[in-house]
Amino acid sequence: INPNNVEILISAVSSAQYPKTGLAEIALSGRSNVGKSSFINAVAGRKNIARTSSKPGKTQTLNFYNMDDQFVFVDVPGYGYAKQSKKAREEWGRMIENYLAEREELAAVIQLVDLRHKPTEDDVLMYNYLKHFEIPVIMICTKMDKIPKSKLQKHLKVVRETIDFEEGDVMIPFSAVDKKNLSKAMEAISQHM
Ligand code: GDP
Repeated sequence: INPNNVEILISAVSSAQYPKTGLAEIALSGRSNVGKSSFINAVAGRKNIARTSSKPGKTQTLNFYNMDDQFVFVDVPGYGYAKQSKKAREEWGRMIENYLAEREELAAVIQLVDLRHKPTEDDVLMYNYLKHFEIPVIMICTKMDKIPKSKLQKHLKVVRETIDFEEGDVMIPFSAVDKKNLSKAMEAISQHM
């Protein structure tokens, strides 16, 4: 990815605004604060293309990024933000469902979970939802640098078992701090371009 050829296409609030690029779309989903913006920035090779969120749960838009004319990242607003109102949560649900269920260009979803903790109920629900629609999932387990190396396999196993992970989906531990396994993530993405 050429960092100088990464740009935001649109922050869409409705499907009429989704861009027509002819490129495959890879959506990104995860709890607020999981490290989604940091991951997008790492892939983009840019410090600030996706804003690392100071206000979790605020952006109720789908943000489309042209990634060097190779594919489009679709940043889905983070879920599981407790302070969100019921109305905001319902709006979020409608927008996401509509996109995930209907979007022809959607090739795969990158679901991010925090490798330090057992996946939450929301994480499990989201994964099951994606599997219901038979959407391929690339599971990125973030904040790998915060786990001692000796405990890595144990933490991956907890994620795998809590999520009831399907064979055929990929799981990659990742750190935005040292970009560990960025090339593995890119390789997984390239399978869907
Ligand atoms: P988002 O809300 O999912 O977009 O999360 P952000 O990318 O804004 O990250 C939330 C917080 O976690 C920020 O303080 C990041 O610096 C931090 N963070 C994200 N990824 C990592 C990582 O791989 N390792 C560590 N140590 N911190 C991370």
